[in-house]
Amino acid sequence: MGLLELAPAAHPENMALGSHTIGRKLLWSIAMPGFLVALLGAGYFWHETQQALQETSRDEALALAQFVTSTFTLPQADREHPHGAVSEVISSNTLLLRSVKELRILAPTGQIRWSRERGEEGQVLPGHARLAETVPSGQIHASGTGTELLQPLGGAECSGCHTAHTASLGMLQLRVSEPRLSRQLTEGFLFVVTGAMLFVGLLALVTTLSLRFFITRPLRRLAAVMRRAEEGDLLVRAEVRGSDEISLLSAAFNQMLGRLTSMKVEEIDTQRDLVVTKDKLALKEKLEERITELSLLFDVAHSLNSTLELEEMLERITRLIVERLKIPDFSIMLLNPEGTLEVRCAWPKNQGIEGLAFKLGEGACGRAAETLRAVYLTDVSDPSSVFARRNLVGESDRGALLSVPMVHMDVLLGVINFQRPVVASFSPEELELLTAVADQAATAVKNARLHEETVQLTMTDPLTGVPNRRHLFTRMEQELARAERYQTPLSILMVDVDYFKRLNDAAGHRAGDETLRKVCDVLRTRVRKVDTLARYGGEEFMILLPQTSKADALEVGEKLRRAVADAPSLTSSSQPTGHVTISIGVACYPVDATHQDMLMDCSDSALYASKRGGRNKVTAYEPGMEIHPGRERGPHVSRPSTEGTRGLTPPGVAKA
Ligand code: GH3
Ligand code: MG
Ligand code: MG
Repeated sequence: MGLLELAPAAHPENMALGSHTIGRKLLWSIAMPGFLVALLGAGYFWHETQQALQETSRDEALALAQFVTSTFTLPQADREHPHGAVSEVISSNTLLLRSVKELRILAPTGQIRWSRERGEEGQVLPGHARLAETVPSGQIHASGTGTELLQPLGGAECSGCHTAHTASLGMLQLRVSEPRLSRQLTEGFLFVVTGAMLFVGLLALVTTLSLRFFITRPLRRLAAVMRRAEEGDLLVRAEVRGSDEISLLSAAFNQMLGRLTSMKVEEIDTQRDLVVTKDKLALKEKLEERITELSLLFDVAHSLNSTLELEEMLERITRLIVERLKIPDFSIMLLNPEGTLEVRCAWPKNQGIEGLAFKLGEGACGRAAETLRAVYLTDVSDPSSVFARRNLVGESDRGALLSVPMVHMDVLLGVINFQRPVVASFSPEELELLTAVADQAATAVKNARLHEETVQLTMTDPLTGVPNRRHLFTRMEQELARAERYQTPLSILMVDVDYFKRLNDAAGHRAGDETLRKVCDVLRTRVRKVDTLARYGGEEFMILLPQTSKADALEVGEKLRRAVADAPSLTSSSQPTGHVTISIGVACYPVDATHQDMLMDCSDSALYASKRGGRNKVTAYEPGMEIHPGRERGPHVSRPSTEGTRGLTPPGVAKA
């Protein structure tokens, strides 16, 4: 609408209602004054004429009356017929008195004494009784049939015949007919009035037609064009004929339409440009979103692949999700060996969620794990949701929950749960992105697990399943450091199977392996969780006993020795006693040695002492037990040549 918007009063419908107003107004303003002027002029003319006529009639009537009364002075020929001379004069002057319609002489009582009309004498003229006494001389009566004059008689003119008092003689009644001129004037007046009416009517007609042709119709056309323009047809144009004001108005309107058309064209162009720009902006935003997503995925991949430690990796995922995805509540669940989903990591922390376990199919996470497809609950508080009964992530009990399974090579590894407090707050793009993040996390978890297994393998003795010497040395370093820091004792037991070579020789190496496993099982089941049992080499084991004094370690050694010696599964005919036995050497930090190598050598010496003492014994290291430089290299404990710094040389003894 814009410039074309019309005020309510000028609405086309209102205009239609008053479409003739201008024409009528102009018509009334032109024709009415003319008509009124004509009417007033005619009225004035009529009034003046009538007055002139009345005066003329009156004068004529007075003149005639004087003429008639003057005849009374004439000698009356016949006494029988008084006023006979009057009759004669009148009949001889018919031309003069042609306008006299009635001529009577009335007694004061109104009785007709004489009349121009024969036979009326003696009658009383209606309405004229006693008038002579009251009517002044020359009284004019205007009546419908002419002008009546009543002239009292009794003056000098009657003195010839009448001697009585003049006032009682009566009066002359004379009626003059309407003058011809009056009729002509009336007719003329009517003609003029009719003519004026016709003229005014004609003028009105001509004015109406002119107004219609020159003003109303062009204005209507212009209004119709304006209406079409208002409805949106900006290509319409008003007709311009001549150079009158309406044509100028139409031309101006056309110019305005032309301007509007170009403005509309500009607006359309601008709109089109706007749409293109919007599209570009949307594309740019989409691209930026994609770049952000890709950058996030890259960061996820980079961050997750830069560590193989599962716990650290879970921490990194946590940081990424909190910082980059702005998801306030989430948890990572891993599938444990029991086949349940266990919460390994949750945010916010310390909400008591860690360690919670869900069965497959239980809740949204269980459902996601079961179907290997993401489950999205737009509102967890919705009681109609099949998963609403049990869900987790954070403390929130309302909002949107998204459970995405972590799947690697079609194998389920766990589930990541994302939650926001706002209902249905995950967009489809986010679902896609979070699924990709979960895929990345799945790969990272798988790698971490593989790494964990590999590390486990490299630190475990494959025959017995206990830590190997590599792990043993690492643990020993840690335990020694801790013992040193907390000033606590650390005892070590060096264990060697007695006459194992004989067993091998007698029953074969597979039976020897089995015996080693059994000995290991006996030892493992009898040490504390904090203790470390490791296979040191061949048929030798070492046990680290943190925070254990030498005396207590001796007791532990004795307990273990007895356990092996009494184990029913360890009977062997190849052994001198008919049973597999072990010898143990005990050394303790810091009483025997403060250095790892020295401590091991001490335990080795103590073990050698047990062997020398007849085997199946437990011996605590005592100073002086060291192997004599000349002694034969004991077969009991073999040290790998790679252990350069950990030679067999006991403390204080030079290497051979
Ligand atoms: P003692 O210790 O009582 O002096 O006698 P021993 O027979 O045990 O002495 P030695 O240390 O000489 O023998 C150890 C034997 O253990 C040598 C080797 O064949 C055997 N052995 C070492 N490692 C394994 C193993 O992994 N499996 C089997 N079956 N035998 C092993
Ligand atoms: Mg041995
Ligand atoms: Mg040995």
